[in-house]
Amino acid sequence: MEYAEPMSVTVVGSIAFDAVQTPHGGRERMLGGAAVHFSLAASFFDEVRVVGPVGDDFGEPEYAVLHGRDVNTDDIEHVAGGKTFFWKGVYHENMNSRDTLETDLNVFEHFDPKLSQASKDCDVLFLANIFPALQLNVRKQCEQARFVALDSMDLWVNIAREALVAAISAVDCVILNDSEVALFTGEREVVAGARKIMEHGPSAMVVKLGKYGAALVTADESFWIPAFPVDFVTDPTGAGDSFAGGFVGCIAAHGGEATLETLKLAMAYGTAVASYNVEEFGTERVARLTGPEIVERVHELRSITAFETPEVALKA
Ligand code: AMP
Repeated sequence: MEYAEPMSVTVVGSIAFDAVQTPHGGRERMLGGAAVHFSLAASFFDEVRVVGPVGDDFGEPEYAVLHGRDVNTDDIEHVAGGKTFFWKGVYHENMNSRDTLETDLNVFEHFDPKLSQASKDCDVLFLANIFPALQLNVRKQCEQARFVALDSMDLWVNIAREALVAAISAVDCVILNDSEVALFTGEREVVAGARKIMEHGPSAMVVKLGKYGAALVTADESFWIPAFPVDFVTDPTGAGDSFAGGFVGCIAAHGGEATLETLKLAMAYGTAVASYNVEEFGTERVARLTGPEIVERVHELRSITAFETPEVALKA
């Protein structure tokens, strides 16, 4: 289905400088943050407005990356005299797990999201990983959004569970990784854990499985997709948020109507965008990605997972 008017997506979350070390190299300081990775990915599908705070150290080169993909930055809040959120992480040999070495909240510490009317009027809203009470506050400001998705992290499960439950209860879709689902629910199995979270209200859940792909769980179905098998993973930072950008972006491009078919297609688009993200450090690859490259991987994902099902004669 084609929609004449481009859908508008608002994302609220971290805008950051990241320091990353992997077994194959690193970067001391690069543009990052969940809202940045999400915005770049979603920008292939919709008009995107990014909401979050930055400090004096956030300048033209950083804005240029976002403007290069036509992301609307009017609601980036410049805190005079402040420093931008800083995160430092190191990846283990398997590149599927990492340790956080440093989190400097800086301007993020007193962040109180202020949305312009244009951001409030979004068709689709993504609440990237921030304090869940702020997520709920933003969700309430975007009353008419047709589809709202939320990401979170282990920290909030541990220290703000009640606020997280309240935020989850107010959205359509929750996106978490498998260890966060297990921590939240005590369930190790993906579908069982997802359904427990959905008892709080959301009609869909995406469980990210890192290099093993992702699962979509709805009330009656589950759908599984592998990660796209790239030749070389340089830096997984932001893969989850790029996935979310492709996933949510695709749903917005379908008018925010999260039918099962659209959700499955969104899984493929999220997977395709995330696969490019990990090929280079930070935003480097997605910043120069093209639409046809995304489509090519969506088709390849289909061909590496589809098979015919003629019956095989089995022995008794
Ligand atoms: P991902 O690899 O998709 O989990 O996202 C990594 C991004 O999240 C990095 O670019 C970080 O700047 C950002 N990030 C890391 N820790 C936090 C945090 N506590 N709150 C918000 N954003 C964070």
